[in-house]
Amino acid sequence: MAAGGFVSVNTGNAKDANNILIPKDDADAAFNAAACIGCGACVAACKNASAMLFVSAKVSQLALLPQGKIEAKNRVLNMVKQMDEEGFGNCTNTGACEAECPKEISLENIARMNREYLY
Ligand code: SF4
Repeated sequence: MAAGGFVSVNTGNAKDANNILIPKDDADAAFNAAACIGCGACVAACKNASAMLFVSAKVSQLALLPQGKIEAKNRVLNMVKQMDEEGFGNCTNTGACEAECPKEISLENIARMNREYLY
């Protein structure tokens, strides 16, 4: 998370919640991704010890929102780099992570993270 799982914002008075309009579908998808509790069950279930589901949920919860767009490129590059440095395995799309996740985090987040990484 320290590698990029945050947004840089000026502190001070809270802005009105409706200042930036967000499409309902995007808000719902971001909310679903943000439901990840970081339990690590996905990594434990994966035969490759991949952390892709966890990291992609953290990337997605911010990448889907306009507030997270500004740092999106650096975020995904830094978080994937950190994941690799810590020795997690590569994803081979077995789906074991999604099946074990107590928060029903979707594999769609991994696809989104890959798109964010490439573009
Ligand atoms: S199993 Fe689900 S809730 Fe737990 S860390 Fe993985 S993605 Fe997050």
